[in-house]
Amino acid sequence: MFASISGPRRPSPPRAARHARRLAVLATAVALGAAAGLTVAATPSSAAACNGYVGLTFDDGPTGSTNALLSVLRANNVRATMFNVGQNVQGNPSAARAQVDAGMWVANHSWNHAHMTSMNQSQMQSDLSQTNSAIQSATGVRPQLFRPPYGETNSTLQSVAASLGLRQVIWDVDSQDWNGASVSQIVSNASRLQDGQVILMHDGIQNTRDAIPQIMANLNSRGLCPGMISPSTGRAVAPDGTPPPTTPPPTGSPTTPPPGGGCTATATFPNVWGDRYNTSVTVQGASNWTVVVAVTAPQRISTTWNGTPSWDSTGYVMTMRSNGSGNTFGFTTMMSGNSSARPQIRSCTTG
Ligand SMILES: [Zn+2]
Repeated sequence: MFASISGPRRPSPPRAARHARRLAVLATAVALGAAAGLTVAATPSSAAACNGYVGLTFDDGPTGSTNALLSVLRANNVRATMFNVGQNVQGNPSAARAQVDAGMWVANHSWNHAHMTSMNQSQMQSDLSQTNSAIQSATGVRPQLFRPPYGETNSTLQSVAASLGLRQVIWDVDSQDWNGASVSQIVSNASRLQDGQVILMHDGIQNTRDAIPQIMANLNSRGLCPGMISPSTGRAVAPDGTPPPTTPPPTGSPTTPPPGGGCTATATFPNVWGDRYNTSVTVQGASNWTVVVAVTAPQRISTTWNGTPSWDSTGYVMTMRSNGSGNTFGFTTMMSGNSSARPQIRSCTTG
């Protein structure tokens, strides 16, 4: 499996190093698997080490298990693109809304999963625009990407999609989850992903959900991060898709919570990139502490370390509890187009 990722940019390492790395990947996969259902803590260095981006896509939702999928994705700090079927969205708008609330991108996968190449132009037009409307009214987000069911397309369909502002996206890697692939086969298929590429997966399949922690361990080991799919190129890019700000955002300005909670927490911003930044919070006055932090939408926390996080229903308010890792915890926030806002510490309490 490592031979397939060797190339000019990544010479094949010696056998011993390959073996050690494979064991490391396995250990990480086991650790991540054991932590499924919880937000996975990571170190700041691993959070920052994105050599490239891949597009994880989930088709045919929303389904009855969309919330289970979103839980796994959130627990593994994954943002993905959901190619939704219009009539499923109409039948379950709250699940589509939950996708967006969980930080996913929503996209168009036709109204009822028909073979669209057998439609005429006006049928295609009505199918795709009806789907756009259902997604927009459920989520407030107008889709910019379209994937034809079965990957079946023609020039008429592509031009109809383009006229509705939809970029067609097929896939580079097929996970085969729709075809009964086992968890290990799905993980192995995903390990072929290269920078910029897109993988086909599906909402509603247990093996797919079970594969996500190991898929992420493999991607992390190769410096690949989950990204968004660019509506202009159809390739996976850094999550907010916007270029780095021309004026660097402020760094190092501390914020402290209101007094009276029994401890104080001070935030600094030691690392700022074009699309995300790290926050480091140091607690004084307690070794057993609970700190509540809020980020400003559409910013979103993607990774945390040195604490045990939980989230309110909006996903923008994080409660971090000490977990024996000391008095400084941290997290990475995706800017998602807002490069100036910084998190607010709402409270610091003991216990
Ligand atoms: Zn499909």
